Amino acid sequence: MTLVSITLENVTKVFPNGRTAVRALTMDVADGELMVLVGPSGCGKSTVLRLIAGLEAPTSGRILIDGRDVTHVPPQDRDVAMVFQSYALYPHKTVAENLGFGLKMRGADRGAIDAQVRVVAEALQLVPFLDQKPAQLSGGQRQRVALGRAIVRKPKAFLLDEPLSNLDPQLRFDTRAEIGRLHHRLPSAMVHVTHDQEEAMTLGDRLAVMRDGMAEQIAPPLDVYERPANAFVAAFVGSPSMNLLPVVRQDADGASALAGDGFVLEHQSPKVNSGMSLLLGIRPRDIAVVATNDADAVARVDLVEPLGHEAVVRTRIDEGRGPEVTIVVSADRIPAHGSIVGLRFRRDRVHMFRKDDGRRVD
Ligand code: ATP
Repeated sequence: MTLVSITLENVTKVFPNGRTAVRALTMDVADGELMVLVGPSGCGKSTVLRLIAGLEAPTSGRILIDGRDVTHVPPQDRDVAMVFQSYALYPHKTVAENLGFGLKMRGADRGAIDAQVRVVAEALQLVPFLDQKPAQLSGGQRQRVALGRAIVRKPKAFLLDEPLSNLDPQLRFDTRAEIGRLHHRLPSAMVHVTHDQEEAMTLGDRLAVMRDGMAEQIAPPLDVYERPANAFVAAFVGSPSMNLLPVVRQDADGASALAGDGFVLEHQSPKVNSGMSLLLGIRPRDIAVVATNDADAVARVDLVEPLGHEAVVRTRIDEGRGPEVTIVVSADRIPAHGSIVGLRFRRDRVHMFRKDDGRRVD
């Protein structure tokens, strides 16, 4: 049985200025689980972390850590560690002293501090830097010290607020892998906040995709990718974004089809009534370029963005009169700018969402 480490029960946070940052959020994070909160700027991710840490009090709802109701417990008594994007290290202390400082403040003896610092420094590959000062380290190394300082205390939960966002791309990539490795070694629950959906996909055991203070979907990354709960999640997760094309179900002569602007797709779904308005979702990699007489839609190539091994191609359906559709093709099959191509949608990869509220239709 997995133990639940962090529980949010129907948590709402309204700030004194009337701004609702979190709306009736219910979420569990298990021991040893890495939950990633992901969503656009202002959706409430940091506020959720601050609520778990005790830096903010919820307006209503309960927060439990290891089964204990901590809703009104001050931060220092919650046994959580928080790492921010700006890692405030002590500039005059060495890496070893920075790592051990929290334990020293708690009155741990010298031998215990040294032993624990050593374990953490090894895990984070910081051993060669133990005697150096933060100013002598790279951004990624400093971020690892900040992580290490949190780990040394062996908290029940780690809260990471965009810890990678001020690193350059390569370091970001490496430190991300480091966090992933670290997570597998630690028994604690981790909650990691990012606005970067790729970071979320690669790191998380589960994702909570947030919008406007609400969790739109909480599920493992591949479930979110393959079965997004609504059109917002569908568009947010995956790069380039899923195409979302307005269609209406039409029935004629016993056959049923989804008719869009400049294309018609034969399609059967008992959940879709005749005349229903939908958004048809199809990811750029699930569209093939085919001969125009064999195509679901005929489109004009408007823009080609080569990425090396493949290219993102922006097309417009109905030979340029209809909606934009983005596709991804391999580098050896890039169509010419301005050319007319046939597009075929992989039937088993078509998603449908209600036009009115965006909910998935199955
Ligand atoms: P970002 O990715 O930009 O950091 P976020 O998803 O972490 O965004 P939060 O910082 O949690 O978002 O903010 C959620 C909402 O609450 C925002 O609209 C923000 O303006 C508002 N907010 C945050 N803190 C306060 C505060 N102390 N007082 C009033 N409103 C606040």
